[in-house]
Amino acid sequence: MDGCRFCVQAGHAIFPRAIYSGGVKAKVMIIGQAPGITEREAGRPFNAGSGTRLFQWLAAAGFDEAHFRATQYMTAVTKCYPGKSKGGGDRVPSRAEQALCRPYLDLEIDLVDPKLIIPVGRLAIELFFGAAPLTEVIGGEVLIPTSRPAESGRIDGRWVVPLPHPSGASRWHQLPENRKRIDRAIRRIKARRLELRL
Ligand code: SF4
Repeated sequence: MDGCRFCVQAGHAIFPRAIYSGGVKAKVMIIGQAPGITEREAGRPFNAGSGTRLFQWLAAAGFDEAHFRATQYMTAVTKCYPGKSKGGGDRVPSRAEQALCRPYLDLEIDLVDPKLIIPVGRLAIELFFGAAPLTEVIGGEVLIPTSRPAESGRIDGRWVVPLPHPSGASRWHQLPENRKRIDRAIRRIKARRLELRL
């Protein structure tokens, strides 16, 4: 990923420098949409305002930001900054860019083998829940199987608990009726954290 230029070679307007953090001992993997400009400059995922809100939610689930960043894994559907859209916000990576980057995400999941995946935002959520509306999926969770053999006496798989995009540009998480859905998601993340003894 660090040296990847697939998108540039294919003619996509993207700014290479894969932004991700963490190692193979992580038990939790956060998957965002794509890094923004401040993530690219700082070289770490969810660096700015959206990171502040995301870590407020994770704090409510019992995770300390510094410890989480040091021990867990953070990545995105596409790893490189996609630049600005014509409207001024960060451009949503195209389907072609997502497809080019997908093998990396599959390899990250296979290598890290997380027990809890938290897809953040519509693009990442779609990978696990299809095109279902956020109102139907936020607050829920699914258990997906892994290709690894189950340890005796327990279900093997990974829990997937989605969260909405925490960006201030998004209205969804600011609507009162959606706060309850986010609170349910936080409670599920907390329950999985306790199971994992994190
Ligand atoms: S977004 Fe993914 S596929 Fe595209 S250049 Fe970056 S690492 Fe490579």
